[in-house]
Amino acid sequence: SVLTSEEVRNTFLKYFENKNHTIVESASVIPYNDNTLLFTNAGMNQFKKIFLGNADKNSELGKLKRAVDTQKCIRAGGKHNDLDDVGKDVYHHTFFEMLGNWSFGDYFKKESIAYAWDLLVNVYKINPDRLYVTYFGGDKELSNCNEDLETKKIWLQYVSEDRILPFGMKENFWEMAETGPCGPCSEIHYDRIGNRDASSLVNMDDPSVLEIWNIVFMQYNKDENKNINKLPYPCIDTGMGLERITSILQNVKSNYDTDLFIPIFKEIRKLFPYIPEYEGKVNEEDINKVDYAYRVISDHIRCVTIAICDGCIPSNEGRNYVIRRIIRRAIRVGKQYFNIKSDVLWFYKLVNVVSDILGNCFKDLKNETKLNYIKNVIKQEEMLFNKTLEKGVEQFNKIIKKCQIGKNIVVGSGSNDGTSVNGSLKDGISNSNKQVVMFRGKDAFDLYTSYGFPIDLVEIMCEEKNIKLNIQEFNDLFKKHQLVSDTNNFKITRFFDLPVEKAHELKTIHKINATIDNHKYTWNN
Ligand code: ATP
Ligand code: MG
Ligand code: MG
Ligand code: MG
Repeated sequence: SVLTSEEVRNTFLKYFENKNHTIVESASVIPYNDNTLLFTNAGMNQFKKIFLGNADKNSELGKLKRAVDTQKCIRAGGKHNDLDDVGKDVYHHTFFEMLGNWSFGDYFKKESIAYAWDLLVNVYKINPDRLYVTYFGGDKELSNCNEDLETKKIWLQYVSEDRILPFGMKENFWEMAETGPCGPCSEIHYDRIGNRDASSLVNMDDPSVLEIWNIVFMQYNKDENKNINKLPYPCIDTGMGLERITSILQNVKSNYDTDLFIPIFKEIRKLFPYIPEYEGKVNEEDINKVDYAYRVISDHIRCVTIAICDGCIPSNEGRNYVIRRIIRRAIRVGKQYFNIKSDVLWFYKLVNVVSDILGNCFKDLKNETKLNYIKNVIKQEEMLFNKTLEKGVEQFNKIIKKCQIGKNIVVGSGSNDGTSVNGSLKDGISNSNKQVVMFRGKDAFDLYTSYGFPIDLVEIMCEEKNIKLNIQEFNDLFKKHQLVSDTNNFKITRFFDLPVEKAHELKTIHKINATIDNHKYTWNN
């Protein structure tokens, strides 16, 4: 019989519990006390102190020798950013769960590989002929880190040589962020097709071969000067994507065809019975817009539900801005591909189904008060965005009207030839010999910064009006803007770190049923 995602998760936890690992709770997706990270991006984040040898030996953390958990991860910024892949492929999410087991100066390569293999092949019963493994092939710049032949040798006990492949820094040297713990790694990949010659897959660039599990041999710490120093003791850090392993064990074509996503698709369809059904094509060339929309929306609702649950509040700064953008993208995709009308508030209605799917594991999602809070925050954000869009469209039309003279649409010049000031012609006199049908990148950029008006909408609207958009100019401005906002990325607070007045304000706006007492507050049920 096929395992549910909950069973896949619990089997993992139980397996390692039986091997003397302590089951640890997932940390928040908002990193605690770590400004090298935008969001928690891997299971090891919460153990960073132990790797570095900085954990208090008498604390619970400091006493851990072996641990196992499922970690809520978000990869939508910083060193690991998969935001742009979502919906375009079927195995990168913004939010995903990373199953992991750790050894802190306890077991090392041999045991970690033996455990992983045993669990996959003997417990989950994956056909070993479908598995490939990779190891670190060395790097000239890292003098103390040569080809990892020790790992290759261990794998030879389980896998034939043609399925053990070396890769370089990018694939097989894992780093948490620009600084921090790192080390060579060994990955396990699964061939969804099977029965093929291993030599056809030596580059592992076939999308039907899926990376499922990464075993990192943590041995170094990278400092600000990019120097790599040895950790006090070698550690094991592993990570396996729950959505990916579940898709394999449920024998379906993609992560989106598992019980982690299908109920969300059903809910979308229930809200909008007229939209076409999900087709589920997985080849990147064949993915149609409807499938893309289902995927993006369901990915994004999981991500923002978890993020808000853990304390994010959509706003214009840092990680909260990322969350705002993710909400807006989902809403926009809904408008564009499902024709959802602007005055319909719908996205927040998907929070309940996320709570159904993940609530048994992440108990906060079952708390009625918190759930209502999350829905309320998203609903507010939807209303705000709709208003923003309305204003943006109005402004867009104003820019165009100002410049529309006769039948010729003359919208700025894009270049500095003096024909336009603020999108309108100087003196208001048409230079009819010189029809410049160009929407200025600067105007598009202003729409973006003042109204959050997305560039792809400007593109569509320009197209409709047969106007050319100076996208180059927009991109240049946007790049500069991003550089600036990146440096502000980390200034962010979470709800419970807010000043009391701000918390009170939010409490009123979002009708939060909580008691705020000095700097502490409690959710009431
Ligand atoms: P990929 O090469 O597919 O981007 P990765 O090498 O960046 O994955 P790791 O940092 O090694 O990923 O993370 C450990 C595991 O977490 C991966 O083997 C994969 O199963 C899972 N994983 C990583 N990123 C994602 C994601 N964006 N969505 C879903 N699962 C992911
Ligand atoms: Mg990646
Ligand atoms: Mg990889
Ligand atoms: Mg990897």
